Amino acid sequence: MNEKKPILVTSPLLPDLQEFNKMLEDIWDSKWVTNNGKYHGQLEEALAEYLKVPYLSLFTNGTLPLITALQALRIGGEVITTPFSFVATTHSIWWNGCKPVFVDIDPATGDLDPDKIEAAITPRTTAIMPVHVYGKPCDTERIQEIADKYGLKVIYDAAHAFGVEVNGRSVLEAGDMSTLSFHATKVYNTLEGGALVCHDAKTKQRIDYLKNFGFAGETEVVAPGINSKVDEVRAAYGLLNLKQVDQAIDARHKVAVAYREGLRGVAGVRYFEDMPGVRHNYSYFPIFIDAAEFGMTRDELYGKMKKEGVFGRRYFYPLISTFSTYRGLPSADPSNLPEATKMAEQVICLPMHHDLSEEDVARVLDSILK
Ligand SMILES: *Cc1c(COP(=O)(O)O)cnc(C)c1O
Repeated sequence: MNEKKPILVTSPLLPDLQEFNKMLEDIWDSKWVTNNGKYHGQLEEALAEYLKVPYLSLFTNGTLPLITALQALRIGGEVITTPFSFVATTHSIWWNGCKPVFVDIDPATGDLDPDKIEAAITPRTTAIMPVHVYGKPCDTERIQEIADKYGLKVIYDAAHAFGVEVNGRSVLEAGDMSTLSFHATKVYNTLEGGALVCHDAKTKQRIDYLKNFGFAGETEVVAPGINSKVDEVRAAYGLLNLKQVDQAIDARHKVAVAYREGLRGVAGVRYFEDMPGVRHNYSYFPIFIDAAEFGMTRDELYGKMKKEGVFGRRYFYPLISTFSTYRGLPSADPSNLPEATKMAEQVICLPMHHDLSEEDVARVLDSILK
């Protein structure tokens, strides 16, 4: 058993090396390696088309677009967000000198619960930063209604939601802006990378200034910008990966179907079904363990799976609100966040990527059920 190869939680989608080499030669010949090169422009266009959004700016990772979105919209004061996410979501609020205000999640989706947002709004609230957790779309209509009522901006952390559509429309259309991560662990990757999506040309122009130190021309600086320019090597890599991302999502879908079949009816194991009208990307496959019903705690199961060479991930655990920077905030009190606290204690994300074989899936299921 110990000789079996480990099954990892994720595996990067990698472009064909020969094709990549050809593009590298092209870059070497041109000697234009960064600062709005040819492949950079092509990738921005290709991604905007694939994702069905007119305005998209490339970034060097998925955290800087979050930070830059708040800068571009001049957000200050308090920002309402979810504790059930990756730390970068809340960090981006902190890096803008704003105060994060945590609101609990809806256990049916893992996303920010719209019913609980209004109670957290104060005169200092300026924005809401929800996350499409595991690529499951937030209730964007309800959130927009609340934002409109109180005059708030909405910035979606869509790091998990590459290619997700609701009734044929991109989930990235919602809110004032959405951010993406193209980190190696995500459905679509450029090794490190990300993007910021907005809805008009003027705003894109401002974002593009901000990601290039605030330069609006050779000698003019219009804002205290940052450097988040994407180089030609990663843009080329991204163009090649875009060609195979649909295939990768299909492969993930098959894994999700097999996991659901294998786990259906198992006492103490909960998982998400597809949502009607949604094109999912199967970026993660979380299961939630009810220790009393399952007869084993989440951590015991996590350890047992590991011994079998199956590496899940407790994602998201611990909650962001429990980390030292944030736990002193009044909204971080676990009594304010019962559903998020419970989900963080129950979750294991099963191995999920394009490269899992049927045998791998069977071994993952065995490690849970045997
Ligand atoms: C991955 C991720 C990020 C950060 O993206 P990086 O590319 O790693 O900087 C932000 N938010 C969420 C929800 C993520 O999963």
